[in-house]
Amino acid sequence: MKQKLLSLLACPECRAAFELRADVVDGAEIIEGQLQCSGCKASFPIRRGVPRILSAELSREKQATAEAFGYEWTHYTSLTEADREEFLDWIKPLAPESFAGRVVLDGGCGKGRHIFLAAKFGAREVVGVDLSDAVESAYANTRHLRNVHVVQGDILRLPFTNPFDLAYSIGVLHHLPNPKQGFLALAKHVRPGGQVAVWVYGKEGNEWIARFVDPVRIHITSKLPKVVTRALSFLLALPLYLALKLVYGPVHRNPGLARFKSVLPYADYLCAISNYSFAENFWNVFDHLVAPTAFYHSRAEIEDWFAEAGMKDVGISQRNNNSWRGNGIIPETLARSAEKTA
Ligand SMILES: [Zn+2]
Repeated sequence: MKQKLLSLLACPECRAAFELRADVVDGAEIIEGQLQCSGCKASFPIRRGVPRILSAELSREKQATAEAFGYEWTHYTSLTEADREEFLDWIKPLAPESFAGRVVLDGGCGKGRHIFLAAKFGAREVVGVDLSDAVESAYANTRHLRNVHVVQGDILRLPFTNPFDLAYSIGVLHHLPNPKQGFLALAKHVRPGGQVAVWVYGKEGNEWIARFVDPVRIHITSKLPKVVTRALSFLLALPLYLALKLVYGPVHRNPGLARFKSVLPYADYLCAISNYSFAENFWNVFDHLVAPTAFYHSRAEIEDWFAEAGMKDVGISQRNNNSWRGNGIIPETLARSAEKTA
């Protein structure tokens, strides 16, 4: 943890500032230590360079979700060239310029691929929060960047006031027990005039998943030992990979074959991921099979989230015909009153 993260943090219980005790320091990094609330005196450890600002008890559902994605992002830790393009597509119409000079929050940072990019885009400070052991990978991937911070914490109990100019959450809210509550929590930590951007699974376009994949995920693959789900994902990824490389990829890239797109199942999405490496493809399958909790949201639900947060200039668009991205601005007046009552 870098010393300057302290100015962004606040006790998740009472919002008072933390006092920092550094026990083991390595250059600019506090490796071991403690954060103690100056108000309610709650204390949280800093371990292996990451502040662990978690409640003593997590619900079983949250625990299971943290274990699933903790496994994924501590086994698939590398950042890839494709991350940049994918991130920019997930947050469209935001662009690299949207990050310049801003204080940014990533709600559910996983292995840190997006906080790494946000820093490259010129953000002033970037904070990635994740509930799971994925923070170990995120920290390893970003500790060399002077403006990136990683916190192990809960989106529903974020340890900040509202210092952020921009908060985003990519592919995370739909795995929370209550996605809308997660969205509102994220929005509450953005300053008046700041921006929120999210990407979630769509209900529209994923009817077949609800029908065929969800029962298998909920009752079987999310409950199996991770190594078994991983082996199963590998077996499923093989034919999928062949289909992507031999069918969807050529149809996607070759204008002469574009007419076949209309007869291929799930074509928009599978064409979009046709350039995935085998590893990306395999871990993507694992990602879809391992989650104990996954919601598929309708456009109306996403509209409701932004409306309830009182946001303005809201833009919602469909991605690959199977998911939703949304962004909006926190109005000056509304956010001030929300802050007072928080
Ligand atoms: Zn406190």
